[in-house]
Amino acid sequence: MSNAFTDDRLKEECGVLGIYTPEQDAARIAFFGLFALQHRGQESAGIAVSDGSRVRMHRGMGLVNQVFGPGELEQLPGHLAVGHTRYSTTGASVLRNAQPIYCQSQVGEIAVAHNGNLINARELRIELEAEGEHFETTNDSEIIARILIRNIEKGPEAAVREVMKRARGAYSCTALTPRCLIGFRDPSGIRPLVAGRHGDGYMIASETCAFGPVGGTPEWELDAGEMVIIDSNGMRISKGHQKEPGGMCLFEFIYFARPDSVMYETLLYSARERMGMQLAREHECDADIVVPVPDSGIPAALGYSKVSKIPFREGMTKSRYIHRTFIAPDQQLRELGVRMKLTPLIDHIKHQRVVLVDDSIVRGTTTKQIVKMMFDCGAREVHVRITAPPIKFPCFYGIDMASKGELASSRMTVDELCKEIGATSLGFLSEEGAVASVGRSTDNFCLACFNGKYPIPVPGDMTKLAFENPPVTGEMAAVVGGQPKLIRES
Ligand code: SF4
Repeated sequence: MSNAFTDDRLKEECGVLGIYTPEQDAARIAFFGLFALQHRGQESAGIAVSDGSRVRMHRGMGLVNQVFGPGELEQLPGHLAVGHTRYSTTGASVLRNAQPIYCQSQVGEIAVAHNGNLINARELRIELEAEGEHFETTNDSEIIARILIRNIEKGPEAAVREVMKRARGAYSCTALTPRCLIGFRDPSGIRPLVAGRHGDGYMIASETCAFGPVGGTPEWELDAGEMVIIDSNGMRISKGHQKEPGGMCLFEFIYFARPDSVMYETLLYSARERMGMQLAREHECDADIVVPVPDSGIPAALGYSKVSKIPFREGMTKSRYIHRTFIAPDQQLRELGVRMKLTPLIDHIKHQRVVLVDDSIVRGTTTKQIVKMMFDCGAREVHVRITAPPIKFPCFYGIDMASKGELASSRMTVDELCKEIGATSLGFLSEEGAVASVGRSTDNFCLACFNGKYPIPVPGDMTKLAFENPPVTGEMAAVVGGQPKLIRES
């Protein structure tokens, strides 16, 4: 679902979480942990828990605080929990596809929360159906859940190894059986996953920023192809599959992850500041103020200002309360476009030569609106500086951006794009500059949307709605574990 307010920015994919605690309040901890991962997905949220014998689950459409209240949490007693916030990349944005995904068989039950995208989902689903599996959702995460449950009798390590043997693509997952919490990361390590402690228990999350608010301490950034198993014997980390080409999505560092998260032992705020510094070295300009597009552009704009010696100045404020909405705005609101989210500080902009720092250009429509807003406020010049290389190729590993033909940098040269967005000048950070700002070598990253070198080969017919047949609407049973409860999709 595109944002209703004509925002063409990249959409984060999903956030996952896992809690193992001695008390019966894992759902409450997961609830607060999911707040810290809300930026990774706002379409649906869910928590599954286990009290040691039975798995219960609640999930729904919307933000974490729209899906859960005290009543829902009370109905989820247990010392193990997995949680999920979703932005859909495979499968429509409907309640049936909300996560965690629950699967039951004669040998047990499992709930899985997945961040990423499988690129061999179609063939795997056909294979599994031929092996007797019946699918209830249209998203690729159920494939992971079904492989796990088919193999869980052999033990969690063996079940995860089977997933890693068969599934190709990006997947960072948390999962629970009645007595065991599991976390694992795909062999290319595209999406992040970190494990740590929570009091006398343990915690797993997409990002380190989820630990602090619930009193946890992040300790182990899982390596590509690694898994963590937590049960009554404690926590053990083991290799599930040898490392394969690829690495962390560079956009996690540029934009997706929260600036207070740490990845590759680097605070993302600092990495973004260094990207801005490098951008100033690569694309100098003569201007009066450096203005960030909030919020993600702020550390980079500070970095640009530091190196260029051009003063940093806030040029717009961002509404904190406009979220993705399931109600399309009317035409009048649509025409207001980006102003629904960003309000200019006219006195700061008027008569100024502005360096406008932002994190990416996808289709170019949002940037064009922001540049126009700057000129409408009286800016004399608007020099756009982007803290990422041009996006020329679509992502198949869990980021919803656009098809190749819709990507502005795929269709236009930098000069043509500069004219298209109406800017005075335009400069992108180089691939080398972005990578060096994180402090790791190129082979630690996925850079496919910039250079077209997909570390995991992608079939030609990949689409987000690959399994939408028949289309799904309406109501779904969303609490499992014996007593399904009907939740109406809003
Ligand atoms: S293709 Fe781009 S957005 Fe997708 S995982 Fe790779 S770097 Fe990230």
